[in-house]
Amino acid sequence: MNDKSFLDLGVSEATLKALDKKGFTSPSAIQTLVIPELLKERTNLIGQAQTGTGKTAAFAIPILETLDCDGSVRAIVLAPTRELANQVADEMYSLRGKKEIKVLPVYGGQSIDQQIKKIKKGIDVIVGTPGRILDLMNRKVIKLNNLEYFVLDEADEMLNMGFIEDIELILERTNEDKKMLFFSATIPDSIMKIAKKFMKDYKLLKVKTKELTTNLTEQIYFEVTEGDKFEALCRVLDYVHDFYGIVFCRTKSDVDDVAQHLKGRGYDAEAIHGDITQAMRMKTLEDFKKKRINILVATDVAARGIDVNDLTHVINYSIPQEPESYVHRIGRTGRAGKKGIAITFVTPKEASKISKIQRLTKTDIKKEKIPKIEEVIS
Ligand code: ADP
Ligand code: MG
Repeated sequence: MNDKSFLDLGVSEATLKALDKKGFTSPSAIQTLVIPELLKERTNLIGQAQTGTGKTAAFAIPILETLDCDGSVRAIVLAPTRELANQVADEMYSLRGKKEIKVLPVYGGQSIDQQIKKIKKGIDVIVGTPGRILDLMNRKVIKLNNLEYFVLDEADEMLNMGFIEDIELILERTNEDKKMLFFSATIPDSIMKIAKKFMKDYKLLKVKTKELTTNLTEQIYFEVTEGDKFEALCRVLDYVHDFYGIVFCRTKSDVDDVAQHLKGRGYDAEAIHGDITQAMRMKTLEDFKKKRINILVATDVAARGIDVNDLTHVINYSIPQEPESYVHRIGRTGRAGKKGIAITFVTPKEASKISKIQRLTKTDIKKEKIPKIEEVIS
């Protein structure tokens, strides 16, 4: 067990106040590793810990404590989705000890003129998605030649095909002496290789857990044919009292279909994926956080890193293609000490995939029977 306090880690009085206000009473394992290290000296670093274990504050606290802020951008955090950028920006904003530090979320779908205005007034920390940041760099609005920190949140995703080119373009125009911080729950070897290309030397801080998935989540699977999945989903939703969870589907059109059908049957569900407008995604996320809807149907990318507390369930309507993605998905539940249930629908053809996931996560995923209709209506 980790029994250090934030004070023991060396954080300042002002930050302690901010932490107190947020209700963070003691640091998580990754925070205990990372915070003192970065307070001691600036260094490149890779931080790895399970989802939901406070990686954001692990980098945010030391950055905010040590940043030399002068209104030129001194730290940039890149995240894969708009929602995540927003969430990380909020968390950083609320963790500031020095209230003069300006934190701005920057992503596509917001008015670029508004962003330009704010940046021109002076910003210390930018949290954003690569596309919009690159756009603003091309317009010479954002300059990254005075950086102290360059952070990749969800680094495995960020160093993947979709983002790597943008990231390289951004990095080309940053100052050499900045430090790089990469954070992720999973770092496959292929991604580690890329990370090493960017950083010659770095510290690797890893929270060792026997099980990759949090043991607060109970994991089960149902064997179900493609054609029976929707019915099985409805059974689960009817069987569980106070269901509050995310249903993951493989494609955007599956997400739309499932959400539409659920709404048709009178469930309070909404879809979230990359083709839905930014305004609509924000609204849906807000409705879900406020529990105005209790079912969020989502693609992996849209739901990555989204921090919604006390989910009762995560349902893998389609089994994730990569075991890593399973870990990320079910990391949405069992957060902050609350127990959750992860249910995966496995078609008979996908039996080998579930064993692969069990090997990676070193956990036992129990096969269970779908609730019978009599159990549901009784
Ligand atoms: P990760 O990035 O590792 O998935 P987050 O940084 O999103 O995790 O944190 C998950 C949740 O835990 C957030 O709601 C965050 O505010 C909360 N949290 C982080 N650190 C602490 C702490 N030390 N005490 C209590 N809650 C915390
Ligand atoms: Mg995170």
